[in-house]
Amino acid sequence: MVDYLPRSAWGARPPSSGPGQLLASRVRGVAIHWPGTGTTSPIHSKASVAAALRGWQAFHMDDRGWSDIAYQVAVDQSGRAWALRGLRVQSGANGDVAVNQQYGAILLVLVTGEQPTSAMKATVRAVVADFRRLFSRGTAIVPHSAIRPDPTDCPGPAARAAISRGDFTPKSSPEDDMTPAQMTELKNFIEARTQAYALWVHKALSRQVDATVKAYALDLKAYDRQTNAADAARAAAAVWATQPKPTDDPTDPTDPTDPTDPEDPSDPTDPTDPPLEPFPPLPPEEAPKP
Ligand SMILES: [Zn+2]
Repeated sequence: MVDYLPRSAWGARPPSSGPGQLLASRVRGVAIHWPGTGTTSPIHSKASVAAALRGWQAFHMDDRGWSDIAYQVAVDQSGRAWALRGLRVQSGANGDVAVNQQYGAILLVLVTGEQPTSAMKATVRAVVADFRRLFSRGTAIVPHSAIRPDPTDCPGPAARAAISRGDFTPKSSPEDDMTPAQMTELKNFIEARTQAYALWVHKALSRQVDATVKAYALDLKAYDRQTNAADAARAAAAVWATQPKPTDDPTDPTDPTDPTDPEDPSDPTDPTDPPLEPFPPLPPEEAPKP
């Protein structure tokens, strides 16, 4: 979000009844303007920008009979953004009602022969980003000359070249709109979540390995018992074969089960371990604030 200097910062007169707000479904983008007064004396200081805005407002209201200064926002060479009508309100700057309904209007405080500074470009990108947040379909960035029904040189050759170079196009990365504190918060969040996920994977894998090892140990034990029992049976048979008569041996080596075995786990999972929850999904994204 851009910090706009309020109307009071340039001593704006209140608007008369105007066209109201833009209708989002009709909006296509923003048009870039300049004052186009033909003057080459720069308008740089805060006071001179404010005075110029008051002059254009008086011209638009008193000479043209419009409701207010025609543009939505002005951006000067120091990168200041000035609230004029504001981004929500339909402009009177583009040429006729149809193009005013389709395009916002950003005024560059740029005189003949001047190039837009990098401060101006950065602020215009941020203003365009604000505009797109309000009007998601309004992605176009056009020079006034591209949409005005009658010919115009507005916004001049330097701004037109800047538009074609993409100097006013917001970078697509959402990081551009983040404060350093928000960046740190996001970084910490990602790190914490990555760590939590690594722990969860470790836990899940350990359990799987534990269960496999236990099951394998059980298999080995059963195999041992079977082979022991078979050996014992063969040994007994051999003893029988060499003895002329059977004796009354009370111990029967052919019994393979040992009911006193305390280490017989019937369940390979540890009952004290609660079941592992699935890794929690992210909460739903917050709806963008209007
Ligand atoms: Zn224009």
